[in-house]
Amino acid sequence: MGERTAPPRLVVTTGDITTESVDAIVNAANPSLLGGGGVDGAIHRAAGPDLVRECRGLGGCATGEAKITKGYRLPAQWVIHTVGPVWRGGRDDEERLLASCYTASLACADRVGARTVAFPAISTGVYGYPAAAAARVAVSTVRSTHTMVETVRFVCFDDRTRQHYEDLLAETSRGDEP
Ligand code: ADP
Repeated sequence: MGERTAPPRLVVTTGDITTESVDAIVNAANPSLLGGGGVDGAIHRAAGPDLVRECRGLGGCATGEAKITKGYRLPAQWVIHTVGPVWRGGRDDEERLLASCYTASLACADRVGARTVAFPAISTGVYGYPAAAAARVAVSTVRSTHTMVETVRFVCFDDRTRQHYEDLLAETSRGDEP
């Protein structure tokens, strides 16, 4: 493991996170970690049945926390499973819990030495977190986290979500590059 910790380089892209050739992809899981719809379902389908087998041994995951497994048939070596908050109007600690998903996931990546990590837009699907606000939490949290991860890819499933990230990076990119 190297010594350098700094905010990672940020990249925004549109597509299916299961095809990302990175060290680790992040799953927007539910607390059971036994699979679900949305990005969770896509990751389990692409990884194959060994993923749920490993997940059964993890004992679930609390909101805002993260657990790591192997990636099995995915191009990514690791899957970091994090549980985003369900949006309940914004007065139920959602912002802190969403930020915690990003920091806990990067801590998992650091534990295994992953240097490239791809995140979906956690909580913005069935969990109902407004997409623009969620993108702001994602970008500001990753930017202010010191980690061994060198590159974070925000993999957006639609162009509207991508636009939120693009706007944030354009707004605040000064000083981001060495
Ligand atoms: P949550 O329960 O955390 O809201 P969802 O899976 O419902 O999780 O949605 C989270 C985000 O992931 C949404 O923006 C959704 O459009 C997106 N998404 C769904 N499938 C994929 C995929 N294969 N790759 C990347 N993002 C995806």
